[in-house]
Amino acid sequence: MIAMPDGTAAPPGAVVKENLLDLDPETALARLRSWLAEHGEPSYRAAQIFRRLWEFPVDSFDAITELPKILREQLTSSFMLPRLELATRQTSTDGTQKFLFRLTDGQLIETVSIPDGDRLTVCISSQAGCALQCAFCATGAMGFQRNLTPSEIAGQVRELRLLASSSVATNIVFMGMGEPLMNWSAVSVALTLLNDARALGIGARHITISTVGILPGIVALAARPEQFRLAISVHAPSEALRHTLMPVNTKYPLADVIDAARVFDRRVTFEYVLLGGVNDQAEHAAQLAALARECRAFVNLIPLHPGGSMGFSPSSPAVIASFARALRARNVETAVRRSRGLDIAAACGQLRTERLGRRLPVVRDEDGHVHEA
Ligand code: SF4
Repeated sequence: MIAMPDGTAAPPGAVVKENLLDLDPETALARLRSWLAEHGEPSYRAAQIFRRLWEFPVDSFDAITELPKILREQLTSSFMLPRLELATRQTSTDGTQKFLFRLTDGQLIETVSIPDGDRLTVCISSQAGCALQCAFCATGAMGFQRNLTPSEIAGQVRELRLLASSSVATNIVFMGMGEPLMNWSAVSVALTLLNDARALGIGARHITISTVGILPGIVALAARPEQFRLAISVHAPSEALRHTLMPVNTKYPLADVIDAARVFDRRVTFEYVLLGGVNDQAEHAAQLAALARECRAFVNLIPLHPGGSMGFSPSSPAVIASFARALRARNVETAVRRSRGLDIAAACGQLRTERLGRRLPVVRDEDGHVHEA
């Protein structure tokens, strides 16, 4: 069966070109060398072409003007160079930008770029939708659509460079749509593309995989030699509460996730979204501190994004401050993540949900308060 870029079957008679963007650098370079040999071209051209896939990306082979025209035409006949189609872009007053990209099969995914001084952090998606249905998450509410391919995952960063050459990501977080460790084979190739100096060249310590605690995926990530960072979405410090918020806790209970975090050979971060009156009380802080100390974890407290979750409300600033103080008093390194993009739908899954007309957009009113429109 001939496959289309998104993995579906091609119509009979369709000419499907190869997608070099789905291959890790070694494999892509080897494929290019063999193709160049078949076409009587010198092998040094392989590196020349590959450089224009990721490091200095072009939107078509014809734009690689350092190559002879005939070679560009032959490349165009043999290989595709798919782009992600920009469906919507929102820009916040704080510089955060949210992109909604349409894939070849019509699926919509979200990418967020967050500038901060010299840094540009890009939050990327690994799946269209998500099967895990965390109670507070807009992506979970839309259900699972499909896994993304490596070119669709790393391609989000490539696409930002194509849209604006100054958009060079320095940090990557897998905190967009989907659970990255449920799509490990594609995420693993994407990690190589993000990190390899011949591709996007982002330092492994600046690339964070965020997971709810998919244990086989954590083992696979730990086996990679690069120093990729692991963040665990804890969100509830007891089995009982986590069961109610995160159905995945049935398959991968909190105790097992904490065990995996404890033996992970690099320092982990705990992500903890604060839900007003649900998981933000003093007892929760004490429980979370005990878990974090067990794993020597850094704790990131995340204020709930207004409008991001049906049925939940953000904790008040005073409660957030007191929760952070309670952790620090127990010698747990803690940061409260600054809310970015409050005037746009910057929480995971919100923009797609708005686009599909299932949720009201978030707006900022004249005095700067944010609420659902
Ligand atoms: S929080 Fe993450 S894992 Fe949970 S439903 Fe949302 S996207 Fe999926």
